[in-house]
Amino acid sequence: MRRPVLAVIALLLLAGCGGAPAASPSPTSTTASSTSLAPPSSLPAPASAGTSIAGTQATAPTKVVVLDPGHNGGNASHPGEINAQVPAGRGRMKPCNTTGTATNAGYPEHAFTWDVAVRVRDLLAAKGVQVVMTRQDDTGVGPCVDKRAAIGNDSGAAAVVSIHADGSTNPTAHGFHVAYSSPPLNDAQGQPSMNLATTLRDAMVSGGFPTSTYIGSAGLSPRDDLGGLNLSERPAVLVECGNMRNATEAAAFSSPDGRASYAAAIAAGILAYLG
Ligand code: ZN
Repeated sequence: MRRPVLAVIALLLLAGCGGAPAASPSPTSTTASSTSLAPPSSLPAPASAGTSIAGTQATAPTKVVVLDPGHNGGNASHPGEINAQVPAGRGRMKPCNTTGTATNAGYPEHAFTWDVAVRVRDLLAAKGVQVVMTRQDDTGVGPCVDKRAAIGNDSGAAAVVSIHADGSTNPTAHGFHVAYSSPPLNDAQGQPSMNLATTLRDAMVSGGFPTSTYIGSAGLSPRDDLGGLNLSERPAVLVECGNMRNATEAAAFSSPDGRASYAAAIAAGILAYLG
């Protein structure tokens, strides 16, 4: 157990290893013996993170992405918790969470969003991205939209992506759209979120998915009523992958291959945004 911990510390402190690891002086250390704690003379003075030392390229800081799979499997059986009012930004209150929609055959949105998010998580992790999920399974309750936003904020995420599917009762309505907070309430909701939205939109189009025929314009939808976006202090978007009541899209949502295709496009968009 000791060795992996030390290895992790060594990696984290690689750029600053001249000083930081010596932070625990021995009981006999005094100012008089401080020279023994100095960095080895072969190393330059402690460098700032991100620079290279002695020809060794320091590891770039790991980027954090928060994935927010919409709804949750236990929401429907916990109406009291789910309907409790929570802050949703712009001075409004909204229900903690909702149950989400489903295909006509009964495949639920929460299962779709969970499955796609796990696939996106794995694709991002394979590229070295640190992923934080707003929920850990598809059987729990919530969390509330304000808590989901707080998870993104507290993580210092480079990007926050909520994953949903819509439930329009018009069976011909179809296509995806990417929602973003508008008008923005802070800097992160401005250009960074717009860039995330357009980059994700472009990746979805490249993945072969049509833009929405019934919401927004060219696959983008400015919104002022989505609590998770309103409360975000990080670049954040919400992708509605399509209409679960449309037969073609319902078939794609209900198939593992279809979900893998959505996940691949979403992951590609996030990676393109991270650069
Ligand atoms: Zn939803």
